[in-house]
Formats: sequence, C-alpha cells, structure tokens
Amino acid sequence: MTVKTRFAPSPTGYLHVGGARTALYSWLYAKSQGGEFVLRIEDTDIERSTQEAVDAILEGMQWMGLDWDEGPYYQTKRFDRYNEMVDKLLAEDKAYKCYASKELLDEIRAEQEANKEMARYDANHPKIVAVNQAAKDGDPCVIRFRNPKEGSVVFEDQIRGRIEISNSQLDDLIIRRTDGSPTYNFCVVVDDWDMGITHVVRGEDHINNTPRQINIYEALGAPVPTFAHCAMILGDDGAKLSKRHGAVSVMQYRDEGYLPNALNNYLVRLGWSHGDQEIFSREEMIEFFSLNAISKSASAFNTDKLLWLNNHYIKTSEPEYVAEHLQWHLDNQSINIENGPVITDVIKLVGERCNTLIELAEQSRYFYEDFSEFEAGAAKKHLRGVAKGPLELALSKVEALNDWTTENLHGVIAQVCEELEIGMGKIGMPLRVAVTGGGQSPSVDAVMQLIGQERVISRIKMALAFIAEREANA
Ligand code: GLU
Repeated sequence: MTVKTRFAPSPTGYLHVGGARTALYSWLYAKSQGGEFVLRIEDTDIERSTQEAVDAILEGMQWMGLDWDEGPYYQTKRFDRYNEMVDKLLAEDKAYKCYASKELLDEIRAEQEANKEMARYDANHPKIVAVNQAAKDGDPCVIRFRNPKEGSVVFEDQIRGRIEISNSQLDDLIIRRTDGSPTYNFCVVVDDWDMGITHVVRGEDHINNTPRQINIYEALGAPVPTFAHCAMILGDDGAKLSKRHGAVSVMQYRDEGYLPNALNNYLVRLGWSHGDQEIFSREEMIEFFSLNAISKSASAFNTDKLLWLNNHYIKTSEPEYVAEHLQWHLDNQSINIENGPVITDVIKLVGERCNTLIELAEQSRYFYEDFSEFEAGAAKKHLRGVAKGPLELALSKVEALNDWTTENLHGVIAQVCEELEIGMGKIGMPLRVAVTGGGQSPSVDAVMQLIGQERVISRIKMALAFIAEREANA
C-alpha cells in the first residue's frame, strides 16, 4: 500500500507555525515511507475563506520547501461529488431529511438544559418526530447522517494511543444544510477517501471530529485511514501560541531573517525527537521520522533556540543556499551586489557572526557600497592622530601591492607593525574602521581582500582626511 498523506488548511489566514509543523510532519511521514503528499484547500466556509489566504498558504509551503505531489485541490470545486455521496447515503437510508426549524431545536435544547440533560439533537424527540411526519416534500430541510446508536467507535491514534468514544455521545450530524451545501466533516471524509489518503496527520483540535468521521467512512463503505493527532504549540509563557508571542506567520520568519531549513529543523524538534539529536538535515529528518515518536504533550516555542539553529544553518549551509535566501534581504535593504565581490565569498567570511539574514545583509553592505561617514564611536576611538603614520604607511604598501591576496595583505599589516615598532592593534583597528566604516568585522586582511584594492585605497585616504580635519579643528 502506498502511503498518502495530506495537509488540508482552511484559507482563513496565513500559514502559521502550528499549521506549518502539521504540514511538515505530514510531508515527512509521506517521504519517509516513499509515499505521496497531497495539498487540499478546505475553502467550504465561503464567508471566511479568501484568495489572499490561499496565496499566503501556498507561498508559505513553497518557502518551507514542502512540495506537494498532488493538488492543490479545492473543496469548493467538488460540491457535486459531495452531494452525490449525500444522495447515496439518503438512498441507502443511512441519512435522512430533517425539517425541524432552528427555533424548535433551540426550544428543545433549552428544555434539555432545564432538565439537566445533555443538550443534543434527538431524532426520537416527540416534537421532532411530529414535525418530520407533517412535512411535505419540498419543504426546507437539512440532511442528517444516521449515526449508529449502539456500540462505540475505537481507533488507534498513532500519537495518543487507543481512543474509544461511545456512539451514545454522538448525535446525527448535519451533512447537508438547508441551502444545499455539504458540511465540513462530510467533505473531509469524501475527500480523504477519493484522494486515497492512508494517514491523516492533523492538529489535536480535530480529535473530536474523528469518531464522527469514522462512522461516515463506514457508512460510505470507504476504508478508514490511520490517524495521528498532534498536540498544540504553546508560547514560551505556556499559553496557546498566538500573535502576542511575536511572529506566528511562517512568512514573518522569512522577513525576520530565518532560513527555511532552520525553521524546519526547529519545527521538527518541536514535539518530535530522535534520541537527543538536535540538528537534522532534510535527508536525516526523512530517514528518522516516525509518527509514534511525536510527543503527546504540548510543546513550548523557544525563540532563542530557533535563533541558535539559524546561526548554525547560516554558518554551515552551502553558501549558495544562504545566498538564495539572503537575496530577499539584500533587496529589502536596497543593497545592490552587482558592483563588488561574489556574495558567496562575503557569506563565507561574515556568515558565522550572524544570527539572522537581516544581520548578514547589514554586514554585507560595506563590501558593495561606499559610505560617506565613519561610525561616530569607532572613528572617535580609532581615527586619531596616532593612527596617521600607520595608515599612511599601510596606504603606500597597499597601493604598491601587485598581487591582491589575503596573505599579502596580512604581510602588509605585519610589515607596518615591524617598521613602526607598533603592536597589531595600532594599525589593525584604524584600518578596520577606515575600510569598513565601523569597529566590527571579520579579520581585516580578508575583509580588505574582498573589498578590493581600489576601494581600500580610497577609504584609507578618506580616513586620513578625516584625521587631518580632526587635527585641524583640535
Ligand atoms: N481544514 C482543517 C484546518 O485547517 C484541517 C482539517 C483536517 O486536517 O482534517 O484546521
């Protein structure tokens, strides 16, 4: 049997981290079994579904790299099929028409509550029986599923273990509304059946729907899939994850400078484990993933850990991969990398110092753009009269350099120290401020190498002019 899983978001908002984790688990399970992954858009709630949300979900899935083998299917395009199945159940007397008005149902519910009974639809209630007997064909009605009265529904949840619900707790679900539209729980079953879904991985908030859905599968003569209900994600304060906890849309993590591989690695560990391993390549996730190693209990989101992972991925990923995702931030910060070193070389040099791609873009800027001012604090401290001699000597040496390599630039700095009998800091720091504009950068010889000879020369001259002006004003 080929394993087939699906992710079935309702397009009422963006793809949030909870949904993204469910999608990831579902995707991973399919991949781990050599199976297929289906994307289905559950847009039957026409009032709340928007095209914008559909686009945001597709964008989020693509950014996460969760590619689908089939779909996206749209439930709104499948109404004929759902109605065909409603009619089939009606014809087999596994569903029936109910003419009770909302007012009548409200009245019965109030009665039940007053008698301290469980408020529920009861097909045998005398008032409902009376209305249904008196009704004529063509009167407005809903279609209800004839839920079994006896016994119970049992299923083996892959995460939570055996679950048993008595049928006495399940009332006859509406499967088609008065306006002719099929209802959510029914559509999901028909879809999962038609699409050949073998494993349903979804959020715990749907666990109450599962016994009802299982009864519908059975009534339709459809095979019942295996279920796995994932626990919730909490904020670091223990409350249900919400906007209040900061970024919850997957695309907001893109905007905040995370790599999708870092977010995927973070999400896979948020509620799933394989020994005490923390870092998983995509291949390892696929190889080791299993549904029964998903945790039953809720997991708390931890931004510090995500940041740590992001730094790890920036440091250790192929620079081409980092570059692909850095481009959005370079554009966002209007940094044009046409005129300067190859961006992957900058990433190799600067990447390990950065926790986010926002920082990496910021720290890439001086490789591509000249600046008109030095950072005030760094200039005050390092571009002083004492730096004039060392910078002048360094300038003459870099001007004379024929072979522009990091090694030779290292040699230039060493020679300046030797000839002037000064320590490394006395030339290293002024040079750093001169060529980068600020006081922090990777090794200054490697930085100068990438910035290039022409720019380095003009920036040292600019630093010398700054010192001269400062001295004149002193
Ligand atoms: N459309 C549902 C949701 O977005 C998911 C239903 C399911 O996975 O069965 O919560």
